Amino acid sequence: MKHHVSLLVKCPHCGKSLMDEEHKIHDKATIKLNIECEASRGVIYLCSLYGCYDKECAVGIKDQEIGKFYCPHCNQSLTRDINCKLCDAPMVGMNIKVGGKVNICSRCGCENHYVVFEDLTEAINKFYHEYGFSG
Ligand SMILES: [Zn+2]
Ligand SMILES: [Zn+2]
Repeated sequence: MKHHVSLLVKCPHCGKSLMDEEHKIHDKATIKLNIECEASRGVIYLCSLYGCYDKECAVGIKDQEIGKFYCPHCNQSLTRDINCKLCDAPMVGMNIKVGGKVNICSRCGCENHYVVFEDLTEAINKFYHEYGFSG
């Protein structure tokens, strides 16, 4: 990993935190979402380190399958009307607490994800202020 920025995200609908402090990956709080796939419905924990694709999920999603992601608080869909540039699956969007949005691909195994800032300079200043860098 080049850097170790942990993203703190919240639901774009209800504004509640999606971070789970109890469940950690790489010693960081995970992003907890509800996921629905062909086999079942359950919870997925995503590593919150930007650029890390580690996740824990017990719903039995198959490689290359597209999952449906929901907020665990308000249960609204996090799928956006943007498609992945790599595999054409719908992107899933979350808001970053300090501003901006992070989009991740809903296809299991696709590593496309990116951060969108409305105001880049302001967001970067906040990142340095709130997290610093530990790389
Ligand atoms: Zn919500
Ligand atoms: Zn994709």
